[in-house]
Amino acid sequence: MANLQDHNLFADDFKDEPYWWTAAPRPVTEWKTLPQRADVAIIGSGYTGLSAALTLARAGRDVVVFDAGPAGFGASSRNAGFVGKTLKHSFTSLLESTGENYAVTVYRELDAAFDYVTGLIAVEKIACHYAQCGRYMAANSPAHYETMARELELKRKHLGLDSEVIPKAAQHHEFASKLYHGGAVIPGLGGLHPGLYHLGLLQRVAAAGASVFGETPVTGISNEVNGFVLTTTRGTLQVQDVAVATNGYTGGTTPWLRRRVIPFRGFMIATEELGEEQLQCITPNARTVHDFNNNLVYIRRAPDTSRLLFGGLSGTMTDDVRAMARRLRGVLSSILPEIKDVRISRAWNGFGAGTFDLYPHVGIQDGIHYALGYCFAGVPMGTYLGHKMALRILQDPAADTVFASRPFETKWWYRGTPWFLPAYVARYDWLDRRGR
Ligand SMILES: Cc1cc2nc3c(=O)[nH]c(=O)nc-3n(C[C@H](O)[C@H](O)[C@H](O)COP(=O)(O)OP(=O)(O)OC[C@H]3O[C@@H](n4cnc5c(N)ncnc54)[C@H](O)[C@@H]3O)c2cc1C
Repeated sequence: MANLQDHNLFADDFKDEPYWWTAAPRPVTEWKTLPQRADVAIIGSGYTGLSAALTLARAGRDVVVFDAGPAGFGASSRNAGFVGKTLKHSFTSLLESTGENYAVTVYRELDAAFDYVTGLIAVEKIACHYAQCGRYMAANSPAHYETMARELELKRKHLGLDSEVIPKAAQHHEFASKLYHGGAVIPGLGGLHPGLYHLGLLQRVAAAGASVFGETPVTGISNEVNGFVLTTTRGTLQVQDVAVATNGYTGGTTPWLRRRVIPFRGFMIATEELGEEQLQCITPNARTVHDFNNNLVYIRRAPDTSRLLFGGLSGTMTDDVRAMARRLRGVLSSILPEIKDVRISRAWNGFGAGTFDLYPHVGIQDGIHYALGYCFAGVPMGTYLGHKMALRILQDPAADTVFASRPFETKWWYRGTPWFLPAYVARYDWLDRRGR
């Protein structure tokens, strides 16, 4: 019986690894010798680390990048590929709590991050299926619809953001689900293939002369008179500067940061091939789609095949990918009953990083630079703040950013294990149900 159920759920080609790794397999690690010295060591080879490495190497710095897994093993090859201008604090709430100046400054930097990543892809000619497909945000309740409309009106007024509110009666032109109460389109946002984007960055970083050491965890950092000595599983290395780009994978090597980021899992599935006609019915304009809940679900077409990609249930404390695939398909069926029997061909998870103040952070602590805490919006923000972190190391005045000016809070009781996440997620879910 269990096998029959599995056959109905999992396609014959099922793998529990990111869909993106099919077109963009993680690079095979070369076993080259570690140099004794470099100018800068970067810990983490996702978007943040590679973006920093690119800026530094092109400025003439001798750069070495380390990753505990194969290059890009973290969230940078596992995410949904939405390219947006997202912050956990809504523009409305920032206007109310911080005033117009600060709210506009913060949101202008989301524009800058978006422009930076899309500009980089264009200038570097990174073939990663980047498309300005626009985003559809689906309202879970009439109250959400009103809130969304007000938020977008304020963004139009203060930021000039282009958007269109879509009433429930016209929703099928954007998204086939009958579950939602209308929504809104933001036409200027985009989507990409995260794995190919990562590999494109990796190639540019290598061409710029930086060395990337995969499967080489950094296990210690000691502060010396003329810089730092890094201990890795391949030996030690002396450097002037260290940059930490470990986001949701931050561990005991950087205990100060570990106490400030809250790692939480996101889960995704890819369906079997659906066919162009069915996809056209589900998302007629091929936009990225998410709902308006606190703990949201997200859905999009794969940019390179006729599959749907679906994510949600973030923060669930399990690494049982198959069990989560089962749950995600249940949620997907409630949203799109017409594909309730669709089988799953990939299921995976990855770690994002929250922060206590829900802002991303870039800064320096005990001489060690860092950029992390993107709260699930790291495609643009990781690329952008990686670049800013590099500019800080280069002491370039263009390093300035509002995300460097905030104190990086922790709680006296937090040591890096987010034992409180189930309660936090349950509260979010309760608020979401109440909002509905
Ligand atoms: C399921 C999911 C969906 C998401 N969807 C989106 C989306 O649609 N849009 C969006 O903007 N964002 C999204 N995100 C968030 C986004 O993927 C991340 O914010 C972004 O990839 C972070 O990039 P990074 O380079 O900072 O960290 P990562 O890519 O996570 O890289 C950190 C790396 O550090 C390495 N590392 C850790 N410790 C050490 C050590 N001691 N030594 C050496 N290496 C170490 C890890 O192995 C890891 O590879 C999503 C995240 C998840 C999990």
